[in-house]
Amino acid sequence: MAMSGFGVMAPKQAEEGFAYQRCRWCGTASFRRLLCPVCAASDLERQYSEGPGVVVQSRVVHRGTGTARNESLVRFPEGFVVPCRVVGTAPNLVWVGATVRSVLAGAEGSGDSGEVLFELRDTIEDDDDFRRHF
Ligand SMILES: [Zn+2]
Repeated sequence: MAMSGFGVMAPKQAEEGFAYQRCRWCGTASFRRLLCPVCAASDLERQYSEGPGVVVQSRVVHRGTGTARNESLVRFPEGFVVPCRVVGTAPNLVWVGATVRSVLAGAEGSGDSGEVLFELRDTIEDDDDFRRHF
C-alpha cells in the first residue's frame, strides 16, 4: 500500500488518547496505580484521555556528569498527574502551562525503565521560516 506513505489522513497513535485508569467505585482518575488513590479499590477501568496534558511542574536534572534531562509533572483534564520527561526540546525550555502530547513508542529514547515521554505541542521551530520573510 504505497498510498499509506502519505499519511495525511492517518491519525497518529498518540492522538487516540493517553491511557489512564478510572476507579469504578468513586470515579477518581489515576495513572499507573494498582489501587485507587482515594478509596483504595482495585477495580480500575482503563480509559483514554484526549488531553491536552498541561505541564504543572518542570525541572532540569543532571544525573552524574551526563546530559541534562527534563523531569516534569503533566496534569490531564481528568485530574490525574503523570510524572514524565518532555523530549524534543531543550530541558530548560519546558515551561509550566505548556501543553504536551505523548511521544509515539519507538520515538526518541523511548522509555528506558518505562518512563513516560511527552513532547511540546507548541514549539517555536516554525519561527525560522517566519523570520526569513523579514
Ligand atoms: Zn476510588
